Amino acid sequence: MQTIVIVGGGAGGLELATRLGDTMGRKGRARVILVDRSPTHFWKPLLHTVASGKRDPQVFQIEYSAQAAQHGFTFIHAELRSVDRADKSLELAPILSDDMGEAPSRKLGYSTLVLALGAVTNFYGVPGAADNVCTLDSVRDAKAFYRRFFGACVRASEEEGRQVNVVIVGGGATGVELAAELVYSARALAKYKAHSLDPARDVRISVLERGERLLPHLPAELSARAEAYLRSRGIEICTGTAVKSVEADTVHVAEGAGEASARPATLTLWAAGVEGPAICTTLGLQLSRMRQIMVNASLQSIDDASVFAIGDCASFVCPVKGAAPPRAQVAHQQAVFLAAALARREGKPLPEFSYRDYGSLVSLGPVAAIGVLLGGSIGRQLPVSGTMAQVLYGLMYQKHLMALHGFVRAAAVTLSDWLRKRLTPSVKLH
Ligand SMILES: Cc1cc2nc3c(=O)[nH]c(=O)nc-3n(C[C@H](O)[C@H](O)[C@H](O)COP(=O)(O)OP(=O)(O)OC[C@H]3O[C@@H](n4cnc5c(N)ncnc54)[C@H](O)[C@@H]3O)c2cc1C
Repeated sequence: MQTIVIVGGGAGGLELATRLGDTMGRKGRARVILVDRSPTHFWKPLLHTVASGKRDPQVFQIEYSAQAAQHGFTFIHAELRSVDRADKSLELAPILSDDMGEAPSRKLGYSTLVLALGAVTNFYGVPGAADNVCTLDSVRDAKAFYRRFFGACVRASEEEGRQVNVVIVGGGATGVELAAELVYSARALAKYKAHSLDPARDVRISVLERGERLLPHLPAELSARAEAYLRSRGIEICTGTAVKSVEADTVHVAEGAGEASARPATLTLWAAGVEGPAICTTLGLQLSRMRQIMVNASLQSIDDASVFAIGDCASFVCPVKGAAPPRAQVAHQQAVFLAAALARREGKPLPEFSYRDYGSLVSLGPVAAIGVLLGGSIGRQLPVSGTMAQVLYGLMYQKHLMALHGFVRAAAVTLSDWLRKRLTPSVKLH
């Protein structure tokens, strides 16, 4: 029996394991194994809500072992250390709790390997960035950011200056969504008297964007509307502003062709771009400029037919539409495609993946969202905002839940989330 090993249980990998487990694992057609260094799955597009204290990741996570038991695949909690492609095996380092000491690494053979490792923050070599900023690569990062934000607000309440400066580098979706949520968190914390700052005056949130406008993937008119909305919430937007270096409490920038200046930063969050994880460079496979594994039309590495890559760690370039962006939408479509392709009877040629862009939605806090839907065969753009955009934004997560749990369970989870939201504080209070 063939062994399909998927490394990385994120937006793409967990959906793929679930689908393959249902179609092949349960029927004894293949051994399907998912490896992840975390014991639980959390949908990455919601990380900004963890970083703003709005969402408790413990409530929204999915236990890989439970998902595996229900869907006919095996889960191994371990970190991928290396791949021996000649031997078709992986070296895995099991992850134990702190008090259990080190575990010896183990070897795992595969017939087909799918790498779904996601991406990591790209600091573009900016001096001091890697050492002095927070990132949003994982739940751990998001929780650490919120702890620091909460602590900074509490500390500033006791200080003379009474000022918290949050600098967000990158005016793409991640930076914008986080900035919008933080405004509400600062207010909610004041309401619960967790700090004694005046949120509008003492908590300053700035978004620094190197390009000429925020949200460059959206039409210019929507970028302008998003910018106006954020400004109306008190967020400072600095476009045409390139970060030159970062220190623990200062961000050095150059604005347009102008002089360099220094901005005080109690906390700096880097959301300026992503690249493939470092392990990609050890695989002996061809990588893109952004360190992603280059794949062909069937999502196979262009160097090794036994290795596939999906999601943010893969570089899929369509000759007509160009490169697929690092988005959950792409990871989802690639998981659906690969689940069907690998389940086809052996010997048949693999089909070709085609990415369809359905548009993009950006949350602007708890009560607003903005974006564009791409409809019809000609890909006509339909701008959306307000309640409609908010509902559609919420549906993206429902779709992910449905892919993993089916309709009934996803609806039950949504209902319980809705009730919890009404029964618990709107922001984490410690
Ligand atoms: C704040 C934020 C907001 C976003 N909003 C949107 C949005 O609105 N719409 C959208 O389409 N996209 C959005 N994205 C992008 C989206 O989250 C990613 O494109 C998507 O999660 C990629 O899926 P993936 O399966 O490739 O990787 P991921 O979901 O990142 O999963 C990677 C998995 O691999 C595991 N892993 C990594 N390395 C190893 C290793 N060595 N060993 C074992 N396991 C490993 C990780 O633990 C993780 O579980 C957002 C991202 C962020 C950070």
